[in-house]
Formats: sequence, structure tokens, C-alpha cells
Amino acid sequence: MNVLVLGSGGREHALVWKLRESQQTDGVFCAPGNAGIGQIAECLPVDLKNPAAMLQLAEDVKADLTVAGPEAPLVAGVVDAFQRAGRRIIGPTRAAAQLEGSKIFSKEFMRRHSIPTAKFAVAEDYASAVKAVSEFGLPVVIKADGLAAGKGVVVARSLEEAEKALDDFMVQKTLGEAGDRVVIEECLVGEELSFIVLAGAEGSMPLVPTQDHKAVFDDDRGPNTGGMGAYSEDTILGGRLRQDILGRVIEPTLAGMAADGMPYRGFLYCGLMLTPEGPKVLEYNVRLGDPETQPIMMRLRSDLLEILMASLDGQLGAVGARWSPNPSVCVVLSSRGYPAKSETGKAITGIEAAESRGGVKIFHSGTTFRDGQLLSTGGRVLGVTAIAEDLPSAIEQAYAAVSKIHFDGMHYRRDIGAKGLRRLNKMTREIHQPDNPAGNPAPS
Ligand code: AMP
Repeated sequence: MNVLVLGSGGREHALVWKLRESQQTDGVFCAPGNAGIGQIAECLPVDLKNPAAMLQLAEDVKADLTVAGPEAPLVAGVVDAFQRAGRRIIGPTRAAAQLEGSKIFSKEFMRRHSIPTAKFAVAEDYASAVKAVSEFGLPVVIKADGLAAGKGVVVARSLEEAEKALDDFMVQKTLGEAGDRVVIEECLVGEELSFIVLAGAEGSMPLVPTQDHKAVFDDDRGPNTGGMGAYSEDTILGGRLRQDILGRVIEPTLAGMAADGMPYRGFLYCGLMLTPEGPKVLEYNVRLGDPETQPIMMRLRSDLLEILMASLDGQLGAVGARWSPNPSVCVVLSSRGYPAKSETGKAITGIEAAESRGGVKIFHSGTTFRDGQLLSTGGRVLGVTAIAEDLPSAIEQAYAAVSKIHFDGMHYRRDIGAKGLRRLNKMTREIHQPDNPAGNPAPS
């Protein structure tokens, strides 16, 4: 089979890498791809907002299956174009992709189907937005309705901050049309967790749990980014919490979309806040997360192509997925100045040395080859990913690999996976407490 992956980040590199392992793949293509993907697949240019161009490309390379990585092609309707032409593709239709494409759509959907989420109001002009903010109290969360590449959410701690965000979005139009309308939302407190499922023609399959690190600096300080790292480890999600999320969030979401005439297919990412009242949805993404995909693919032992085909054929239940029990960690290396601005064209060295250790894989995001030299193209540049028998070892392996890589202005967080270590230490302490002589694991 020929497979085409749409996108150019670390997520797409991890997908291409895994698809290449399949016994059933002949050609693997990626559009537009990056320097790292180009080493293992053929990269071709394409406009990710133009469904007709992506369909033409799939026809040109005789793709038996296409996987859409980022949200832009999905929101633009690439799945609808492929379906009309009878070509197989993984992802939701344009209508279903509104779960990510419009925050107002997703909040109203959740209200309609009683899916737990923060209380909210919708505002269509600056004056009513300011009025709504005063009714919520502080801190308050302001969200631009449309796609904003991670720049559309502000957690405002003061009235000035809230008014500035509203002015930026609605008056200065810093995000263009995406900020014409906004959601104003209660600020939730708790630990964040990503829960991703693959929804098929029949049933759905949860992937292993991950936790990402959105803020640019250690201890979750600084502005939000697309993601500075992620780890995957089974105790992120105890059995009870997993059932709770499946029953209160995933099942009603898939049932609600079907009931509303937009049956959901493809990867569905739920960003959740674990509040004292239970898990609440912060956002839906209609695709895999980046960087979460990197540690997830490191743990996948099954044939990814077989799973994707099974999802289209209504056979997910029959195929299932096998996962490594070992935890994995991805540390993102970004350019100086990211996320506000970022430097480009810096020479990158040390990737081979970093990858020479077993269990380490470097996924490229913002890279290109020029005159035989690997250069950064800004933003997130590389995802250094490691898998090992336990979380401390996976973290150690990832950072040992990071220490081999260099480019001018390279920035990374030093605490990827630290929340996981704290959780594991807490569980160990609870098991050894005197009031728990049986040594039962702590509930989660
Ligand atoms: P979103 O794109 O909606 O997930 O928002 C990006 C980030 O903003 C989330 O990962 C959270 O850290 C934060 N956030 C969003 N909504 C809320 C909320 N209602 N309460 C607290 N933090 C939030």
C-alpha cells in the first residue's frame, strides 16, 4: 500500500516512522514534510489549506491511505473532498472538525450533550465581552473562537489583562477573523491530562495516556506554546479515572456527534482538567497532539497501518493495539525567542550521536537541509524522544541525548516528566503508609 501523511511536524515524523515499519507499506509520502522525514520518505510540496490540491497529490502518488496530521486541512474540508472522490483518509469531516475549528461550536455542543466543561459565555462584540468578564470574576479565561495556532487562549489574572486580550482579539484583530467572536470562561484549577482516542466506523480505541507541557519555561511558567514536551506512562490514568473519562466525556462526545448528524471519525484529542468535581473538557482537538504523538508512537508495538485501516473498516474491536509497558518521554528543543518570534537558519549538530543510544529517537519539526547542512527553520525544531524500563530512566535517557545536540539559541525545559515522578513518589508513599497495611495502591 502507498501511504500519504499530510503535515510537517514532529507528529508527522513519528507517524511516518511508524508507518514505514509496517509490512504492508510500499511507498510512504509526506507533504510538505521536513528534513528528518525526507530521510525516510518522499516529501512533496502541498498547500495544507487546499483540499483539491491534497486530493490531486494523493491521486498522483496513488495513495491507498492518507493521514491528515494537523487541524488546518481537516477544518478546510480535506476529508469531505477525499470521501467524494472515494479515497481513504483518516480524520473527521469539515462539519465534525468544528469541534476544534470553533470554540463556540464545541462549548455549545458540550452544553447540549451535558459533557462536563467550564461555565462560559459567548460575546460577539467588545462591550458585551467586557460585561461578561465582570460577571465571571478573576481569574477568567478568554478564548478566540477560531483557529489561532495556540495563541487564542489567555488566562487573565487581572481585569486589565482580560481587557487587553479582548482588545487584541476583537478590536486590534491580532488573530484576524478568528478573534471576531470569543468565549469567556470560568478558570478551572487542577492537573491537566490529554486523552486521545481513535474513533472508527464502529467503536473507538483509546491510546496510551500522555501529559504535555505547554508553558515555555520550567514549572509551567511563561507563555503557552504548541507544546514543549510530553511523556507517556500508564499511572497517569488509573482504572477508575479512565472509566470516568470514557463514560462522562468520550462516549457522550461520540454519541452526541452522531446524534447531531456529524459522526466523528479519526483521532479525537480531549484536553482535560482534573478538577475536584471530576474531569472537565478544556478543549477538543480533531487530531493527534504534537508532541504527544512522539511518545505514543514510541510505545506502539502493533502495526499502525493495520490499526488505521481497521478503523475505516469498522474492525477496531477485532484488531486492537499492543503497547509497550515502558514509559516514554519527549523533550522539545525550540529556537531562541519561541513562541513570540523565533530564529531560523541555525546549524544543528549531534543528532547521530544522540540517536546512537538504544531507545532514543529524534523526531524533526522545524528543520531543513541546505547545501548538505541541517538547519533550523524556527519554532519547535526537534523532539528528543526516549523509551526505557521506568520513567526516571526514560527521562535520563532523553536528557542525555539532548546534551549531545547543539544549535545556537537552543531552548528546552528541564522538567519534562517531573509531574510523573512526583505522582509515582506519592503513590509509593501512600502504599507504605501505616494506615494502609495491605499495601493497596492509591486510588487515582
Ligand atoms: P485550550 O487551547 O482551550 O486547551 O487552552 C490552552 C490552555 O489554556 C490549556 O491547556 C490550559 O492550560 C489553559 N486553559 C484553557 N481553558 C482553561 C480554563 N477554563 N481554566 C483554566 N485553564 C484553561
